[in-house]
Amino acid sequence: MADKDISVVVKEKQEYLDQTFRDSVATISKQGKRNYIFPKKPNGKFYNWRTLVSILYLAVFFILPFIKVDGEPLFMFNVLQRKFIFFGQVFWPQDFFIFAIGLLTFMVFIIFFTVVFGRVFCGWACPQTIFMEMVFRKIEYWLDGDINEQRNLKEMPWNGYKIRKRVVKMAVFYFVSFIIANFFLAYIIGMDDVLAMVHEGVAANLGTFISLIGFTSVFFFVYYWFREQVCIVVCPYGRLQGVLLDKKSIVVAYDYVRGEPRGKLNKDYSLQTDHGDCIDCFACVRVCPTGIDIRNGTQLECVNCTACIDACDTIMEKVSKPKGLIRYESEENIAHSKKSKLNWRIAGYSVVLTLLLAFLAVLLVTRDDVDARILRTAGQMFQSLPDGRVSNLYNIKLVNKTRKDITVSLKLENMKGEIEVISKTLVVPKESYYQTPFFVKIDRQLITKRKTPIVLGIFEGDKKIETVSTTFLGPGY
Ligand code: SF4
Ligand code: SF4
Repeated sequence: MADKDISVVVKEKQEYLDQTFRDSVATISKQGKRNYIFPKKPNGKFYNWRTLVSILYLAVFFILPFIKVDGEPLFMFNVLQRKFIFFGQVFWPQDFFIFAIGLLTFMVFIIFFTVVFGRVFCGWACPQTIFMEMVFRKIEYWLDGDINEQRNLKEMPWNGYKIRKRVVKMAVFYFVSFIIANFFLAYIIGMDDVLAMVHEGVAANLGTFISLIGFTSVFFFVYYWFREQVCIVVCPYGRLQGVLLDKKSIVVAYDYVRGEPRGKLNKDYSLQTDHGDCIDCFACVRVCPTGIDIRNGTQLECVNCTACIDACDTIMEKVSKPKGLIRYESEENIAHSKKSKLNWRIAGYSVVLTLLLAFLAVLLVTRDDVDARILRTAGQMFQSLPDGRVSNLYNIKLVNKTRKDITVSLKLENMKGEIEVISKTLVVPKESYYQTPFFVKIDRQLITKRKTPIVLGIFEGDKKIETVSTTFLGPGY
């Protein structure tokens, strides 16, 4: 291979792909039926790392709902009551703009991240992959055995053994789905409410219980039957790969320059001299949970789970060839037989990604604790007071996003005048709204226009928490 011109190899590879590249999905038969995939149990360095990462991931997922800050959950996404808590900070509908900016920033982050690092997220952090490959698939290997045992079980006619196996697997899958559904519910309504419902029993919470069974059944359907179809036909991120990836993106890739032309081993298990390093053993295909052959190039179905890297590395070790025939690499580097290393593109994108994350953090941290709206009371003009002053009636609406009651005071900032709050004190209860009318009284001499701009400072003790501008109506002379 060494003395063969790379451009010739690339051309041959292209011709090979043109002839053989599939025009169908591995999980759908020619008759349009589901081809059920039985991936071989992966084994190797990457699989061990992914197992470790997923244990941490699952530990965080199951522990977070129990963590509280000032009596409230650390995270809560209560769409029913429109109450959202991130890192212990309560977010309100008034903070929607932070959500909108956060969402946009997150989308830009995803796009940049994918351009550089491909689908690393899918393989290492996507909940679907973690639950499928690191929870349910492991249970399946434990209950049904590896690829051959699973195939045999599927092929065998229905008998007592098969029925028992299937019933046990369904029961275990449904139970695990039920546990997961409970924890997702805890992220929505809080763990305290979930535990209270468990204490009160099903009859007292029938509606919630029916929803819980609904979610459990969806999880069960996804992990028992639908599986990789989520990534292939449902997930929008997967379908966007075609426009997000380019030749420089780092993906799980087969080094066709080194591997082609592929060929079986000689009878004495040595490599054929006129062939590349791929011995066409299909080990990489057998472990693939989406049923593809990575040697056909980057494909929509590839979730970057790294199982094929481990499988091929094991084979390369056995035939005394360097590992990495399948590896994390860019299409461009493979074509030029180069190895990925830190370059300006990766460094530049990484800096932008870090800045985006910092921007999101700043948005969250600098969010106002108190939100104030001041409106002049509808239908009211102005009042001339007997002491020579003019008064306007306003209404203030305050939102306290913190977990403590806040006493606020108002001050006129840009001119002399008096503020008289009808309720005398402005105490905004924690995590609640408060509104009250108030008068602003200003000497008539200071009001020379029909509409005078005024600025009101809202204070908690000596600390100004917000400044609001409005107008003051007067006789206009
Ligand atoms: S595991 Fe490696 S050697 Fe075997 S078919 Fe796949 S790429 Fe070729
Ligand atoms: S091709 Fe490799 S990395 Fe991609 S899904 Fe299949 S086994 Fe995982």
